Order: sequence, then C-alpha cells, then structure tokens
Amino acid sequence: MAASAIDTITGLIRDIPDFPEPGIVFKDITPLLGDPTGLAITVDALASPWADLGIEAVIGIEARGFILGAPVALALGAGFVPMRKAGKLPAPTTSATYGLEYGVDTIEMHLDAIGSGTRTLVIDDVLATGGTAAAAASLVGEVGGELVGYGFLIELEFLSGRRKIDEHRIETVMTVSG
Ligand code: AMP
Repeated sequence: MAASAIDTITGLIRDIPDFPEPGIVFKDITPLLGDPTGLAITVDALASPWADLGIEAVIGIEARGFILGAPVALALGAGFVPMRKAGKLPAPTTSATYGLEYGVDTIEMHLDAIGSGTRTLVIDDVLATGGTAAAAASLVGEVGGELVGYGFLIELEFLSGRRKIDEHRIETVMTVSG
C-alpha cells in the first residue's frame, strides 16, 4: 500500500486514554469509518492480500469486525459470518471463552455458518493479546472450516498477540510498537 494511504489511515485513528478502563489506550476508528476515502482505502488494504486465494467466508468479530468484515467479504466475493458475544446469535452455536487485554469474554458462532473445508478469513480491527483471534480459530476448527488467515487493521505489537496465532498467515495494515 502507498505510504500516503497509510498516512491517511493513521491520521484518522485516534487514541482515547483510559477507555474502557484506566491504563488502556483505546484505538478509536470511528473517524476513519466516517471518512469516505479512509473507509475505502481501509477496506481495500484489508482485502487485497487475500484476493485470488479463494476465500469463501469472511468472519467478522463483534462489533468492529462486523463493520470491516462485511465490505471485505464483498470485495473478495465471499460470504460474511458474524462471530458474536454470548447470547446474541439465535440459532444453535459453538462457543469459546478467552482472556482479553481488559477482562474475559465469550464468542459464539452459528454451528451451520461455515461448512467443512470452507476457506475462511477472520477480520477484526485490533490484534491486542490475540485471545479473541485464537478463540475464533478454535471455533472455525470445531466446525471443520479451513482458516486461511487473519486480517487486522491495527496490531498492538507490544502485546505480542501474534504469538498465539502465528500458525496462520497474518496481515496487518498498521503496527503500533509501543
Ligand atoms: P485481544 O483478544 O486482546 O487481541 O483483543 C482484541 C479485541 O479487543 C478486538 O476485538 C478489539 O476490538 C478489542 N481491543 C483490544 N484492545 C483494544 C484497544 N487498545 N483499542 C481498541 N480495541 C481493542
């Protein structure tokens, strides 16, 4: 991606200190989502590494992964699958519980969302400790899907999340080193 595109994206993400808890610097992507150019280049940057790799399903993790994952699915000619917080999905689910940078959480996916062998990409806004992404991989594995890789807008490198998921390909648009 062109350096100017990275600059545009970086300039539209703001740090919110002490949200949602003291000590957390929250990466707020709402200015980026609200900017027509920023949104377009973000979706392109997330989708382009996976073009022509036969991605059939894009998983978006609640909630910002929904916003980014759906247009990435469209760009790749794939379907979209929501991975949601506990109790939100209406049909039978499989679930995984994991630790977060702040707290503990459970994510769920519909049991019939991904068929056996479906080539799947997971999209989220931030790779922090990697717990969410690792949980997503376990759910894809449980239903027999083939996890091709992960795409993140922001990697918080200092939290070393990629160590939990580095058996899969990982593509990140920007990295925050400290
Ligand atoms: P983790 O499981 O620790 O990799 O956390 C990833 C999830 O938590 C993603 O869905 C992010 O949206 C969210 N998240 C974690 N840390 C941050 C942060 N500093 N800023 C924004 N979102 C975050």
